[in-house]
Amino acid sequence: MTYDLFSRKNPTFRTPVRWSCTSESVTCRRCHHEWDDGDPAYRFACPDCNATPANPCQRSAGGNERVCPGRDRVAQAAKLLGPCEGLSWDGRHDKPLPLRASRTDPAWQLVRTGSPATRVFSDRYPV
Ligand SMILES: [Zn+2]
Ligand SMILES: [Zn+2]
Repeated sequence: MTYDLFSRKNPTFRTPVRWSCTSESVTCRRCHHEWDDGDPAYRFACPDCNATPANPCQRSAGGNERVCPGRDRVAQAAKLLGPCEGLSWDGRHDKPLPLRASRTDPAWQLVRTGSPATRVFSDRYPV
């Protein structure tokens, strides 16, 4: 069976999608802190967009490689996430999920975003 993920006939996929895994290591672009087991915010449901634990945020506008502010606040309240010491206006870490253009691992999860696939990933795991 084949179907077009970007088909206009399929309202679920109006936003372009990438693929990622919320338990993969992420690094803050501001303070370079690394979370080996993934962003702690994904251990909680998101109060802003109602994403369930371990699933990427699902704002219809896209950009879901970054969690909603409310989800960071939940993780901070649980002491799993500290304030970012890098340069930021809101004290939040900037820890986007690594993104792939296509799904080659069944464990990867759908991320609604139009951002390009992450290049760093292929540097770390050369083909
Ligand atoms: Zn969210
Ligand atoms: Zn940070």
